[in-house]
Amino acid sequence: MSADAYQARIPIYPRSVKGRFRTLKTAILVLAYGVYFLLPWLRWERAGTTGQAVLFDLQARHFYLFDLVVYAQDIFWLAGFLVIAAFLLFFVTGIAGRVFCGYFCFQTLWADVFVFIERLVQGERNARIRLAAAPWTGQKLLKIGATHLLWLGVAFGTGLTFALYWADAPELAVQVLTGAAPFPAYATTLFLTATTYVMAGLAREQVCTYMCPYARFQGVMFDEDTLVVAYDAARGEGTAGRRKPTKGMTEREARQAQGVGDCIDCGYCVQVCPVGIDIRNGLQYQCISCALCIDACDTVMDTTGFPRGLVAYSSERHLIGKKNRYLRPRNIGYALALLAVMAALVWSIATRNQVEMVARQVRQPLSVTLSDGREQNRYEVKINNKTNRTVRYRLSIAGLPGAELDTGGLSVIEAPPQGNVQLVARVKLEPRDATASRQLFEFVVTPLDTPVDEPLAWESVFYMPPARLARSAR
Ligand code: SF4
Ligand code: SF4
Repeated sequence: MSADAYQARIPIYPRSVKGRFRTLKTAILVLAYGVYFLLPWLRWERAGTTGQAVLFDLQARHFYLFDLVVYAQDIFWLAGFLVIAAFLLFFVTGIAGRVFCGYFCFQTLWADVFVFIERLVQGERNARIRLAAAPWTGQKLLKIGATHLLWLGVAFGTGLTFALYWADAPELAVQVLTGAAPFPAYATTLFLTATTYVMAGLAREQVCTYMCPYARFQGVMFDEDTLVVAYDAARGEGTAGRRKPTKGMTEREARQAQGVGDCIDCGYCVQVCPVGIDIRNGLQYQCISCALCIDACDTVMDTTGFPRGLVAYSSERHLIGKKNRYLRPRNIGYALALLAVMAALVWSIATRNQVEMVARQVRQPLSVTLSDGREQNRYEVKINNKTNRTVRYRLSIAGLPGAELDTGGLSVIEAPPQGNVQLVARVKLEPRDATASRQLFEFVVTPLDTPVDEPLAWESVFYMPPARLARSAR
């Protein structure tokens, strides 16, 4: 391995900043944390009982999302959600670059909180740099130890909360804390604790720079109209470069008279950057478009009395004085594809049948001859009631003239809310009524209670032994 292929991480100590983008990021962070940590505790009235509003019940193979119950067979909706997420990402990236990374990505949100904890315990950027360089003392041990303990606390909360989405939250939380939880709950919690601690606490920007695939391919979605965080080099550098506001160089007019740009080379934009880059060097793949350098520079511009916007969201076209084009064919294409998939998903959820049926033929034996001469096939029928109420159904058969359906005297089948009912159905047929040794027919389940859903059919096969079929044909 060449020496250049590996470089040890250079620690980054981001400085705090105030401004409109920082406020927006904090608001999104509070909302995201609120939703993530509180959602498992939210109760929801469903099917006459109160349960967890959002629950991924793997054992029952039901996912509960408020009033929507997703069954294992509805899992193709997940594909719809993933396609929507992908098109949304493409659409937003085409217009506004890596704003997902800067504002919404879990890695950014969690790393932001970990930096906040670090700042709370160890102080502002300079204090943290001094502490890192200082020899190990009791006080340094205390501060570094407290930081890591708090990080582990947040990481454990994150891991445990993730596990709570997969079982009854209050019960599982008590089980985990008392050592009585099942092994998968501990494994999930510990795995998420470890990965959160490492990624948000230790690796931080390295996850975005080296591990995230999106960081690598998002460049192909950029064009000259895509918004990126950019430094206005023409304004910042002038013709004579940037310069500190030394004596005689504090007024803008005086600076301009000497060809000096508006950048006072304070370095604040670099100090606040969570990935440790200098935006004045142009667009770099490490930039997550978080806009904290915009806040930093705006603060400096306000202090100096220069106009804001030296660092701003801009595009290649905008930087050369042209107007941005948001309605570009590619963006319109993404938007149309996004709307089409969303409409299909909403339609699929809104019009899904509230009853489901499976009828499997019993194969041992496939067919028996009854004492009255008829041939009988048996089927295991399962009816799934997806509604929040008890529903009565009638089972019948169609497409097999002369056949009799025997459900053991069960004329009406009752299925509990979000539950299923299973029964054995016998189909009996005179050999003379059979037209082939394998005849297709349908089981039909008809809901009887209002609001009445459409009847549902399940195709099945009736088997008549060829020898009996041949004898009856003579
Ligand atoms: S350069 Fe600016 S926008 Fe990019 S990551 Fe750094 S602070 Fe955020
Ligand atoms: S914050 Fe603004 S003025 Fe200060 S170094 Fe950065 S670009 Fe220049």
